[in-house]
Amino acid sequence: MLGLDQEVGAWDSVLLEPLTEDNFIANLQQRFKRDHIYTYIGNVLLSVNPYKKLALYSADLVEAYVQRGPFQLPPHIYAIAGSAYRWLNDRNEDQCIIVTGESGAGKTEAARIVLQFLVLVSGSSPEIKLVKDRLVQANTLLEAFGNARTMKNDNASRFSRVTNLTSTDRNFHIFYQLLSGADIHLLKCLKLHRNVEQYSILQTENNQSTLSEEEDKKLFVYTRGALEILGFTNNDIIDIFRVIAIVLKLGNLQYVPCNNIDGTEGCSMNNDYELFEVCELLGAEHRWLQRALTSRQIEDGIMTDLNASDAARVRDALCKTLYSRLFTWLISKINDVIKAKTLGKRKVLGVLDLYGFEVFEYNGFEQLMINYCNEKLQQFITAATLKDEQEEIIKEGLEWTKVEYFNNIVICQLLEHESHGILSLLEEPHVHSDSAYLSRVEQCCAGHSHCLAADATLPPHSFQVLHFAGTVTYSVHGFVEKNRDALPREVSRAMFRCDHPIMQSLFPEGNPKRCNVKRPVSKSVQLQVSLNALLKGLGSRQSHYIRCLKPNEMKQPRIFEMALMQHQVRYLGLVPTVQVWRSGHCFRLPYVQFLCRYKMVCGNTWPRWRGSPIEGVSLLLRSLPIPAAEFTFGRTRLFVRSPRTVFELEDFRRA
Ligand code: ATP
Ligand code: MG
Repeated sequence: MLGLDQEVGAWDSVLLEPLTEDNFIANLQQRFKRDHIYTYIGNVLLSVNPYKKLALYSADLVEAYVQRGPFQLPPHIYAIAGSAYRWLNDRNEDQCIIVTGESGAGKTEAARIVLQFLVLVSGSSPEIKLVKDRLVQANTLLEAFGNARTMKNDNASRFSRVTNLTSTDRNFHIFYQLLSGADIHLLKCLKLHRNVEQYSILQTENNQSTLSEEEDKKLFVYTRGALEILGFTNNDIIDIFRVIAIVLKLGNLQYVPCNNIDGTEGCSMNNDYELFEVCELLGAEHRWLQRALTSRQIEDGIMTDLNASDAARVRDALCKTLYSRLFTWLISKINDVIKAKTLGKRKVLGVLDLYGFEVFEYNGFEQLMINYCNEKLQQFITAATLKDEQEEIIKEGLEWTKVEYFNNIVICQLLEHESHGILSLLEEPHVHSDSAYLSRVEQCCAGHSHCLAADATLPPHSFQVLHFAGTVTYSVHGFVEKNRDALPREVSRAMFRCDHPIMQSLFPEGNPKRCNVKRPVSKSVQLQVSLNALLKGLGSRQSHYIRCLKPNEMKQPRIFEMALMQHQVRYLGLVPTVQVWRSGHCFRLPYVQFLCRYKMVCGNTWPRWRGSPIEGVSLLLRSLPIPAAEFTFGRTRLFVRSPRTVFELEDFRRA
């Protein structure tokens, strides 16, 4: 039974008496000490990262959670995954498990545990088995190509950055895996050296990257195996690795300034042999690519040479574009393979795991994008768990004490306001330089309660945003360029012309036959569009929440830092969530629908009910051995207090 236990504290924070922030955190701490890292707030699961392996995950436990029903055993990710799975099957509605928390809090691990649960429960026909195998392999690939080590997390989900690492971060795992794991023949075919130090995009200040060579080598075997199992042929695999090698080598190109005949500043390539090798790997003609990388068309047919720093920017843009398009291409291939086996239009159970809130000493464009996503996701969850919940309860005429909470919608508006939001200002046509951008931010946002700009206390060239999860100082250096994200057309064309079999699909805009050259969409607009589509999709699904908390910044087991935990508990609005939950309900259904779904539990007196639906429901409930306090009658619908009751009702239905 749902328990309050002297030893391990309360399973569900709803049971805490009195409910104070101190009590709430003390309960988490007490549980954490005994390796009980999971705690509920109603049907929201909190997870505190243990930073050590715990014996909490096994096929037997999965079985136990399936047998006993989700809320009769201690809090667990299996319980959340189990309810999503049951709702999917019983009610045939799309489900989504939303995992949140800052960088390193344990989101990706949680998603992995959900996947492991689903793999174990979802049957064993050969067809299902095949899909499951592929899902697991897909995950291996997503990690190798999409994750990197950062200061906050050794396995951070970071899906789009190759150049400009912060000083201590590692690049994506796949680069190191390939260098450590490829055999001599493969290395030779890719024109690579085993030595990480040879590649400038892998350089970090303290070169932590070489620490786990053995590990990288081992993981390379898995990555390669995953590609094979997902149906990539040996040639495909070599093609993919060739792109990785091309990115590594392109990153090494160096330019030195020189004078053009007309007196302007141009540049020449310092290490042309790297470019020759890139061309061999790409199947490109050297002079085409060299021209595309070091000059630019100013008018029809008239070219001008780039100076060294512009050429370096083009090089970086090409590295990033190549890598991120390879990643997207890979994902779409994997999706095809997985979809091919799931026939027809089935209902969906999705797991959402994004990159977590990040704040470093130095924060740039990438951090703003990441933190914007987290701001929007928090807004979605606040609306779903605090705002809409209260509004509906008031509308239904239920008794209610208002719960105060912070609504971060003001911060979302600060960022995305149509005409003077921090992101919108980046799109203004006359914002051509970082300093022009900063002055616009200073003009438009300085007075906002969540923004600090044009202030003497700030470092130069920066502004500050008071995010829901903390204050972040952003340096505007590189913002305009990074947002533009457009490759010069000459480069796309040169890439499209290459013999490498996937370049034409990676650079479709380089096709000379495609003449409608639209203004390229900026990075920030791309992100806003896809994020809004994602959130809209979430809105139409039944959502389940796992909120991950980080007990310390040192990635160490057994350390529970009070201040850090308090900070997260506050900005996530966890105590207000408990308050709403205490007076609220986990489940509601209009009376007519309720009758329709549960009438059979009354035996043969039904379905001849002729009275009003609300009376019918009332009669029906009185016939069941469930305490009346579990139900509240609203104007149009019935409210059910705890999840256990919902599952009991379902069990009666099945019996
Ligand atoms: P990011 O936003 O940076 O991607 P994240 O929230 O996805 O961060 P994870 O990669 O899931 O963070 O977790 C970071 C590390 O914490 C893991 O590599 C693992 O070492 C440890 N960890 C997380 N959850 C657990 C768990 N349930 N049991 C044991 N260790 C865990
Ligand atoms: Mg992650």
